[in-house]
Amino acid sequence: MQERIVEILVGPTPTFVVAPQPKQDLWDTVLANLDDVAARLKLNPGIHAILRQPERELTVAIPVVLDDGSIKVFTGYRVQHSSARGPCKGGIRYHADVTLNEVRGLATMMTWKCAVVGIPYGGAKGGVTFDPAGLSQNELMRLTRRYTAMILPILGPKRDIPAPDVNTNPQVMAWIADTASMFEGSAMMEIVTGKPLNLGGSQGRPEATGRGVAIVTAELLKRYDRTPVETTVAVQGYGNVGSCAATILNEMGCKIVAVSDVGGGLYNPHGLNIADINKHVAHSPRHLLEGYDAPGVDFITNDELLECETDVLIPAALEHQIRGDNATRIRAKYIVEGANGPTTRDADDILTDRGIVVAPDILANAGGVVVSYLEWVQDLQNFFWEKEEVNRQLTSLMIRSFREVWDCAASYDVPLRLGASMLAVDKVAEAVQSRGIWP
Ligand code: GLU
Repeated sequence: MQERIVEILVGPTPTFVVAPQPKQDLWDTVLANLDDVAARLKLNPGIHAILRQPERELTVAIPVVLDDGSIKVFTGYRVQHSSARGPCKGGIRYHADVTLNEVRGLATMMTWKCAVVGIPYGGAKGGVTFDPAGLSQNELMRLTRRYTAMILPILGPKRDIPAPDVNTNPQVMAWIADTASMFEGSAMMEIVTGKPLNLGGSQGRPEATGRGVAIVTAELLKRYDRTPVETTVAVQGYGNVGSCAATILNEMGCKIVAVSDVGGGLYNPHGLNIADINKHVAHSPRHLLEGYDAPGVDFITNDELLECETDVLIPAALEHQIRGDNATRIRAKYIVEGANGPTTRDADDILTDRGIVVAPDILANAGGVVVSYLEWVQDLQNFFWEKEEVNRQLTSLMIRSFREVWDCAASYDVPLRLGASMLAVDKVAEAVQSRGIWP
């Protein structure tokens, strides 16, 4: 984003100072990517204009009675980017940095993600701007129920189906399903995915995104004639996605040399003991890495993790972690994006110039929504599968999608991110074209 010059008049002589750089916006990144893809695909300008704008955006005020009796009003969003390929689908994020533009960007990426993996959904996303660590469990439940009630008019099992995202989990999904069911007057569990097993959740859903990241990593390594046992991996973010990806890659034989979370990171060039770390995280009060120690482990910052000596880097935290200012220092050969939007556009160009191969978010982290789809299918038929069956379908879908992205990138002679985006935008544009513009 361009630096803005702010003029301050001091006496008769104007002085110019550089304003602090505004945070680069995910929505800017997503639109710039779309414009690039549209030009390369020679997309119909009308369809390009349709895809540049979310179909529907809802901003809601969520009053919550806090435990001390006071009232606090939170702001929430649900953005439906496209329903061209099917009902809208996408998670709900609870985070202090949530903005409408972030939710727009994430909703649009869900449209591309569902298209890349060929599941019959459009894209949506929701978010509420607050830090969940500051609320009690009861306050969190009241906020979730009120937010659900406020966005319920645009939700539905055939309309828009939420799921977990940053700081939301199966319990939050259970409250959403229950609130919707109370309004409906009958059980409507299929309105949300990522639910607990006892409410119609799917086997394998909690670890699905991480498993998908691991499958994509393994496929990428195969293309470069590498085996997991000769591969080192660093994972930024040790929440649901990062920890599952690290654990499954470790089981595949990879050496996990670094992991980090909000509190900082752990590094051991000879490999970290992931089972031991998982035990620590499971028992630590905030489920963080802090307090973990073992022989040979060095403590590093998140920035140091991104720049550490490793074959594969998996950013699995928030967006825009790999930027123009640190992309030149990244030493990994392969980046597999567990997070949504972890790489800025300028960083992407630097990585491409430096020959670093990036498996893009809309492919790499699609395992979550793939198993959300499998959960929804099971809910609709009220018939549930064994974990092996879920994992078998996830694996085959991810491998097929990887191959299609790889082939598309090769045929246009572009990096994988562009290949994936071209494949996705093309599929969505085709759906818009086939349906026609109503009326
Ligand atoms: N929040 C996840 C994502 O960004 C999962 C979405 C879903 O399952 O609908 O892909």
